[in-house]
Amino acid sequence: MYSIHDEDKIKELFKEAKIPNFRYAQIENAIYKNFITDFNQIQTIPKDLREFLNNNFYYNSLEVDHMVTSGNWQTTKILFRTSPNPSLSRGEKKGELIEAVIMRHLTGRNTLCVSCQAGCPMACSFCATWKLWLKRNLEFYEIVEQIMFAAKMLNDEWSVLRNVVYMWMWEPMLNYDNVKKSIEIACNQKKINLANRRVTVSTCWIVPGIKKFMEDFPQTSLAISIHAPNDEIRKGIMPVDHTYNLDKLMQALDEYVVKTNKRIFYEYIMLNWVNDNIKLAYELWNLLKWRLAHVNFIPYNPGEWSGGVDFKPTPRFLIEKFQRVLEEFWVPSTIRATMWDDIDAACWQLANKKNEEEN
Ligand code: SF4
Repeated sequence: MYSIHDEDKIKELFKEAKIPNFRYAQIENAIYKNFITDFNQIQTIPKDLREFLNNNFYYNSLEVDHMVTSGNWQTTKILFRTSPNPSLSRGEKKGELIEAVIMRHLTGRNTLCVSCQAGCPMACSFCATWKLWLKRNLEFYEIVEQIMFAAKMLNDEWSVLRNVVYMWMWEPMLNYDNVKKSIEIACNQKKINLANRRVTVSTCWIVPGIKKFMEDFPQTSLAISIHAPNDEIRKGIMPVDHTYNLDKLMQALDEYVVKTNKRIFYEYIMLNWVNDNIKLAYELWNLLKWRLAHVNFIPYNPGEWSGGVDFKPTPRFLIEKFQRVLEEFWVPSTIRATMWDDIDAACWQLANKKNEEEN
């Protein structure tokens, strides 16, 4: 059985079965435009083709294990379980847990954060995701399924999915081929049809990945988890800095801007007494002052499942003070709204909790 999002496989089987190509366009329309999830409901194709689809393809490999919506209805967090597939992950018997988050902004803009790996190998000390290490990379169709799930859910609410961010369970650059294929499907006009600029890939400085990304997707947005303006602090909280230091990163990002003329988003998680000293705001400004940049300050959510180190969130007034330094010197920035205080929505907290319960 194959995923219905695997166009190459569908066309290959159609060729073998001598099914005309125009049938694929009908199926594509039913799946992506009309959100039909049951092949038996596709009335535009003959019954024997519906049977053919049932015998060879599936719509979903992911199952919803748990879903929770915040009290203000702005955030829905979905915990999916992947289909067990021993060839993908050694010892995978009951599937891996992955998360996606839908954020309904008051402006009407809806954003989905997707996972592209089960777990993460990057071991950032403030993050819960790495605690189970990397289980496996997700296949492209598992990423597309997360997007389609959110798109259908929002469509049922008479709303539309506008933005997708590859930033939940990272690191996208370590699963590049599958991320690439999923973006191609997400931005294909005949399929999910998201605008390229509304898809953002967020990385924690995997320099070779950034170079490939700028060649393949010059229109797609790039976000960098910077979290500190110097290597010294960065090394303490993000081990990736030992491989790709700030100089190498900024060189790659300057190339990216020259090639794409696109502003880069810099994510900066505010950790009290770690990276929130006001001197660092000036250092960050100095780093970004001549660059096409937008800084996004993220209030830290320690929740129940932090990365194991006892970090404290920076008080709001201090985040605002930090932000004012950048604003005074014309580096644009925003403070990310916290939309999910009543659910476990920081990096992979829900999946982590569930895994601990099961083990
Ligand atoms: S912050 Fe991102 S890159 Fe770092 S461990 Fe968490 S998921 Fe991985």
